Amino acid sequence: MNLRDRLLAPPGKPVKLASWDAADTLGLKKGDKTETTVAKNIARLDELQYLMYAEHRRGLLVILQGADASGKDGTIRHVMTGVNPQGCRVTAFKVPSAEEADHDFLWRVHRAVPARGEIAIFNRSHYEDVLVARVRQLVPKSVWSGRYDQINQFEEFLVDNDIIVVKFFLHISKDEQKRRLEERLDDPTKHWKLSASDFEDRKRWDEYVAAYEDVLSRCSTEAAPWYIVPADRKWVRNFAVSAILVETLEACRMKFPKPAVDVSRLKAAL
Ligand code: AMP
Ligand code: MG
Repeated sequence: MNLRDRLLAPPGKPVKLASWDAADTLGLKKGDKTETTVAKNIARLDELQYLMYAEHRRGLLVILQGADASGKDGTIRHVMTGVNPQGCRVTAFKVPSAEEADHDFLWRVHRAVPARGEIAIFNRSHYEDVLVARVRQLVPKSVWSGRYDQINQFEEFLVDNDIIVVKFFLHISKDEQKRRLEERLDDPTKHWKLSASDFEDRKRWDEYVAAYEDVLSRCSTEAAPWYIVPADRKWVRNFAVSAILVETLEACRMKFPKPAVDVSRLKAAL
């Protein structure tokens, strides 16, 4: 199954999230077989990162977006476990600091993009500037509405400079979010994850859906595609994200560079 085709938000076409099933199993069954495939994908990701580091030409930027409790942290923990921490950097984007807010909205983002050979993962991203900024009216419409084109230009610029950009929208249903928030309320070891804003944002669920639909409709491009990941089931989410990352990196056909030394001569001289 080519998951990239299946979960791609088609560039240039309007997205209606109601027609994407958050509980989709992608025709898979939970159990050993799927777990083995995820484990294989995770191991393959490690190999591909090693190759990307050796090739030193491209970088990989992975953007994770989704409602509170949609599993952004869990995805990073599960899918990136095999990857060498030396070549991987995670940035969580929070409410902008005073210094960040004094700059253009892409300033803090550009500083966090991967170098050649590196993987950078964004837990939230510049998309917050057309999501929370829009829904909570942090800036007027005249400001946020111009940002879709600015984001597309920025991402195209990164891609032109050999950064692979892959974006995952973790799609959960309102019921599943409720279940997960309840679980957090009932588990003292998860209380630290709770914030009042999560519960306020939940009241604006429909407005967020509309804002996400605009993001997926306007900013899924050939260069920097959005994938809509059914995320009500964690095992499906892990399967989909790991498979799409592997498919994306394999499609780059990376190669080890030619050695800078004469290997056989060095071997003979040992
Ligand atoms: P969390 O990911 O749960 O740790 O929360 C981070 C919070 O920062 C979320 O409530 C986001 O909406 C908020 N946030 C992230 N980026 C921005 C931004 N550019 N403007 C305003 N709030 C933001
Ligand atoms: Mg939160």
